[in-house]
Amino acid sequence: MVEKVVRFIGKDVIEENRRKAEALRRLYDEAGVTVLEFLGGPGSGKTTLIERIVERMLKDYQVDEIAYIGGDVATTLDTERIAKYGIKHVQINTGGTCHLEVPHIEAAIKALGGAEALKTIKVMIIENVGNIICPFNFPLGAHARIMVADVAEGEDKFIKHPLSTRVSDIIVINKVDLADYIGINLEKMISDAKKLNPWAPIFLVSAKTGQGIEELYSYLKTIIERHATRK
Ligand code: MG
Ligand code: ZN
Repeated sequence: MVEKVVRFIGKDVIEENRRKAEALRRLYDEAGVTVLEFLGGPGSGKTTLIERIVERMLKDYQVDEIAYIGGDVATTLDTERIAKYGIKHVQINTGGTCHLEVPHIEAAIKALGGAEALKTIKVMIIENVGNIICPFNFPLGAHARIMVADVAEGEDKFIKHPLSTRVSDIIVINKVDLADYIGINLEKMISDAKKLNPWAPIFLVSAKTGQGIEELYSYLKTIIERHATRK
C-alpha cells in the first residue's frame, strides 16, 4: 500500500497526447492530406491570416479539397468567417479548455466524414484556440505548426515564449504595417526569433493589407505539394 503518491498529471497528459498525435499523423499521411496548424495568442490575427490563405488556395485547389477545423472555447465566430468560402469546416467548442488535444481533432475528422472523407481533402487547416502557451505543448500531428505573433503584442513576444517559439515550424509576424506607428523594432523581433529557433522560416505579413501573404502561401504550397507527390 503506497500512502504517499505525488503524480504530475500534466506531464502524463502531454505524453499521452504526443503518442496519439503520432497516430494522427499516420492517418493524415495515409489519406494524403497536408495539415497546417495555426497557433498564437488571441487577437494575433490567425483567422484573418487564414482567410487570406484560403482565398489564395482557392486559385490552386478545388473548394472541396480544403477543410478547416476551428477551435474556440465557446463561439462559432471564426468558423463562420471561414465557412463563407464554401470549404469544408467544423467548429470545435472546447467548453473551457484553452487548447486543442488529439481527441478534439479525431471528433472533428469524424464530423467531416471520417478517414474516407479525409482522402478527398488535400489540405486541412487547424486553427487552435487563441493562446500562446499551452496549445504548443499539445501537437495535433500537423505537418507544419505556424506560430502567429503580431507586433502589437510587444517586441519581446518571442523571448517571453521561448518554448512556443522553438516548437514552431514556421513563424509569422503579423500586422507589420503597424510596426512604425507603435514603435516596434522589427529587426529585434526577428533576431530574437532566429536565436530561439534558427530552423523556422520567418514571414513578415499584414493579413489586413495582404503584404507578405504571397510569400507565405508559396512556402505553404511547397509543403502541400511535397505530400501530394508522395502519394
Ligand atoms: Mg481566430
Ligand atoms: Zn490549454
